[in-house]
Amino acid sequence: MGGSLYLLIFIITIFIGVAIFIARTNHSKDYYADIEIDEWDCPDCGFHVQAGDKCIYCGAKKELAT
Ligand SMILES: [Zn+2]
Repeated sequence: MGGSLYLLIFIITIFIGVAIFIARTNHSKDYYADIEIDEWDCPDCGFHVQAGDKCIYCGAKKELAT
């Protein structure tokens, strides 16, 4: 009885650890997917965009092949 209790706690601990690991991995992926941190110069107006994939000055989208 005591042995199976420790086994149950052991399995639950591993399950929680895996769940936290998956949650943190998914969260970090979403975090980096949503925020574009590369700086680029708008080809239409020349505005230096520091964040995002869209020019905040004229609304042009960032060209992918640069
Ligand atoms: Zn622009």
